Amino acid sequence: MVVSLPPMEFASRTARLTDRFGTAAEDGDGIDALLVTSMVNIRYLTGFTGSAGILLVTPDELLLVTDGRYGEQATAQLAAAGVSARLEISTYEQAEVVGGAVRDAGVQRLGLEAEHVTWGQLRRFTDSWFPGVELVPTRGLVEVLRRVKDAGEVARIEAAAAIADQAFELVRHRLEDGLTEREFALELDTEMRRLGAEGTSFETIVGSGPNGARPHLRPTDRQIRVGDLVVVDFGAVVDGYCSDMTRTLAVGEFADATQRRMVEVVLDAQAAGVAAVAAGVAASAIDDTCRRIIAAAGWGEAFVHGTGHGVGLEIHEDPRVSKTSDAVVEAGNVITVEPGVYLPEHGGVRIEDTVVVTAEGCRALTRTPKTW
Ligand code: ZN
Ligand code: ZN
Repeated sequence: MVVSLPPMEFASRTARLTDRFGTAAEDGDGIDALLVTSMVNIRYLTGFTGSAGILLVTPDELLLVTDGRYGEQATAQLAAAGVSARLEISTYEQAEVVGGAVRDAGVQRLGLEAEHVTWGQLRRFTDSWFPGVELVPTRGLVEVLRRVKDAGEVARIEAAAAIADQAFELVRHRLEDGLTEREFALELDTEMRRLGAEGTSFETIVGSGPNGARPHLRPTDRQIRVGDLVVVDFGAVVDGYCSDMTRTLAVGEFADATQRRMVEVVLDAQAAGVAAVAAGVAASAIDDTCRRIIAAAGWGEAFVHGTGHGVGLEIHEDPRVSKTSDAVVEAGNVITVEPGVYLPEHGGVRIEDTVVVTAEGCRALTRTPKTW
């Protein structure tokens, strides 16, 4: 499947980031510059997809430093993204290059991404990279920008979701074939790749029978058989962007009335959760909508995870949709709604869609039916 993807708005992202420097530090004070060490955040800001690099953001300049493996790639990707950045290829002298740029820019307070700096890096930054510069912890500065997807990002997630939908449609009937969980997962992964996915969003989950009651079990060599509920949770990646969906199927007939009831209750909860999504709604209220329905069926304790999460360049990102989340969903957020019930004697049921939040509600990017 070849889809043409609209271009993305890289250039405006840095301006939105530097606009927040005045209050960017964890204590609410300002920073003069930010050292970006998360490769995902570097990709978001510059389009560079290499596996190593460091990005210095000052109000006047972007400096991307990577090593000799990525020289040509970085040049091409910055140009394609329309990002004007100074690119330095330096394998062994990164301390001097970045330290020099920080000195030249007169940076006194340098923000670090507190969640993306190792202890070893911090020691090097303090001792040799930035002597005399105050290093200031910041949290989630780029991640906050990443919550709201632009049209190009939504198009990529939508393309990934469409591949997952199509792949599932093509392999669904094979659940009856006596495959193992691992074999079925491989069929699905292969079909997604064949349809143009550059990878899977995460290791595909296929949980059959009692294994389905363990929400994130890796596929095993257990053979899928009639009477099983099978939880299939998977996603595709298109141009770096993930999709995420879960369907639960009964192989043959339901083995018992409880299984049927579990599916009905989770379907209800999931539909109510999706209906509750709209810009301005607290993420915890969406979680509560799903949780009440499952609790009313007597299975509150069996819904052992949050209702959902943001999806984008990473499979799990902000905003989190859970009881303890303090996020309010905004138009342009892409989130999942995925309630579940897990009972070891009967199996597991989880149903998950990826949706994009709009002013009035949401639009589902996952289109696979939920019952057959
Ligand atoms: Zn999932
Ligand atoms: Zn998910």
